[in-house]
Amino acid sequence: MPPREALMPALEEILYSGYIATGQAVYDFENQFRSYIGNQNMISVHSGTDALHLAYILAGIKPGDEVISTPMTAEPTNTSIKMVGAKIVWGDVDPSNGLLDPKSVRTLITEKTKAIVLVHYAGMVCDMDEFNKISEEFNIPVIEDAAHALGSRYNGKMIGNNSPYTVFSLQAIKHLTTVDGGFLAMKTDRQMERAMRLRWFGLSKDKSRLENDITEVGYKYAMNNVNATIGSVQMKFINENINRYITNGKAYDKALKGVPGVRLVKYNQHTEPSYWLYTMRVENRADFIRMMEAAGITASPLHHRSDTHTIFNESRRELPQMEEWYSSFVHIPCGWWVDDAARDRIVELIKKGW
Ligand SMILES: *Cc1c(COP(=O)(O)O)cnc(C)c1O
Repeated sequence: MPPREALMPALEEILYSGYIATGQAVYDFENQFRSYIGNQNMISVHSGTDALHLAYILAGIKPGDEVISTPMTAEPTNTSIKMVGAKIVWGDVDPSNGLLDPKSVRTLITEKTKAIVLVHYAGMVCDMDEFNKISEEFNIPVIEDAAHALGSRYNGKMIGNNSPYTVFSLQAIKHLTTVDGGFLAMKTDRQMERAMRLRWFGLSKDKSRLENDITEVGYKYAMNNVNATIGSVQMKFINENINRYITNGKAYDKALKGVPGVRLVKYNQHTEPSYWLYTMRVENRADFIRMMEAAGITASPLHHRSDTHTIFNESRRELPQMEEWYSSFVHIPCGWWVDDAARDRIVELIKKGW
């Protein structure tokens, strides 16, 4: 949350303004967030999961279609593919960073493939050079789940400008939070109008209730003025906040290079991570986590792989590179709350061994 002095007056004002539903505060926040990303074709929603669901609908994904996705993510990336009835085909991951491996994806494309879902896990950016090529060659849209990657870049530009659809989450633990919230970014303005109807029961906010005709089922996915007000205040601190993650991440990259038992991840060409989590591979992970815990520092692998859930049983297959990655990766604290002294202490601990 922003400092109390910055947030509370704005929050109190909106709470007692008589207008807490979707209104001007949402449109103001949307404009600020669009400027930050550098893309005007973006709409706010109530969660990242809502944005994922809308992206899959707008991409035209239907029951019987196949979507190539990654098990190395939070569950909503994949449970929302089931919401549109499609079958998930698991791509394998690059064992050096846990990100979807374009070589694996190529071998999985069939005439049923309707989309490729990329997750910029922990703020590391997928191999966009290769995925852009694949998308063009097979004419299959890429959907980027950028819930971990606010402030990450590809070719110098913010994530949110590259693919037909990019999804952001503003949930409690993400880089920037509005308590709950999300954004759907689109490459063009062609589907903006439809996206805005889908987030509001299928109704157009531009017309009066009496003039409206619902032609397709929509959802209750809009952000409200209260969450948006928190978002607008957060935007005053966004650069400072994300720069802290990036400064910490880069410092770890430098300080942990060559440390026995540690293997750094490989960042893809032309990409810049925003280090939502600091990710690395370690030998004897259980011992590493115990050593860190004894010093009062949480280190963990965070996410459970998605492909082992019962609802995805029809998609089960062997993923040898995922096995390799999954047994060795770990995260250490990297966010805005880690100051220089804490970071140095963490580095020294790791250097002492485990
Ligand atoms: C948080 C998250 C989501 C879902 O976002 P919500 O705003 O919680 O709905 C989707 N994908 C990933 C990778 C996430 O981390």
